[in-house]
Amino acid sequence: MELEKKPIKEFTAKVIKVITETPTTKTLVFDISHVDFDFYPGQYVMLNVPYEGEVLKRAYSIANPPTRKGLLELTIKRTPNGRASVVLTERVKEGDEFLIKGPYGKFVWIPQMGTNLVLIGAGSGIVPLMCMLRYISDSKLEHVRATLLYSNTHYEEIIYRQELEELDRLSNIKVVHTLTRSAPEDWKGYRGRINADMLLKEVDNIPANLYYLCGPPAFVDDMASLLVELGVDKESIKKEKYD
Ligand SMILES: Cc1cc2nc3c(=O)[nH]c(=O)nc-3n(C[C@H](O)[C@H](O)[C@H](O)COP(=O)(O)OP(=O)(O)OC[C@H]3O[C@@H](n4cnc5c(N)ncnc54)[C@H](O)[C@@H]3O)c2cc1C
Repeated sequence: MELEKKPIKEFTAKVIKVITETPTTKTLVFDISHVDFDFYPGQYVMLNVPYEGEVLKRAYSIANPPTRKGLLELTIKRTPNGRASVVLTERVKEGDEFLIKGPYGKFVWIPQMGTNLVLIGAGSGIVPLMCMLRYISDSKLEHVRATLLYSNTHYEEIIYRQELEELDRLSNIKVVHTLTRSAPEDWKGYRGRINADMLLKEVDNIPANLYYLCGPPAFVDDMASLLVELGVDKESIKKEKYD
């Protein structure tokens, strides 16, 4: 399906709120009420990040749905030894300004593309998937069914944990967690990497869904191979690799 491109805008925007999501992850909320900015759920922007006299350009998925106007939310996880992500998660404060350009990307979903969705993410790969879930919830798209499979190393690292619990209470959204390294004693989710057993248990009629995979390149490639083995057509698998 060929979508009409949203116009690319370049603008400066001020951080109006910094939200701590996990010990390594922050959400920066920008005021963009001065810009006529529109995008599809799943798209990203390029952010210019000043770093030791240089300017680093980095891609960040848009976390808020297009239904919430005037604001732009980016959720950034600190990459060990990373540069931009360390500035963004440790040094940025309210009032700081950044140059932003976008939207970009073909990892998008709108209801006309399919109404049975399976979203599979690891770590910060949740961000564009959360945008899609927030869009489904905000727009009351009750005919859309979405299952999120979300993999993290530790419980404390689950981004948007409370909001995901709330979304899971909606009749058309199901949230499934797995933890790969450690889990609390009373943990009710899965342990270990997302595998065929998990998919067969949690997803009805596997080949009949539209899949969105997001996270580190190796995770996305592994998930895509697994889905193809389970009979999913390549055309039904959309991928966004955070490299
Ligand atoms: C489309 C897209 C959307 C994205 N959306 C998000 C998002 O929503 N949230 C998010 O958190 N991230 C997102 N990312 C990832 C993000 O763009 C950055 O790649 C990430 O924040 C790391 O940037 P950095 O400058 O901190 O790391 P860099 O400094 O670029 O380092 C990256 C890695 O390289 C290693 N490294 C650094 N310097 C060296 C060196 N000299 N030699 C060897 N290794 C080195 C680091 O240890 C680190 O592991 C997205 C990426 C893409 C492509």
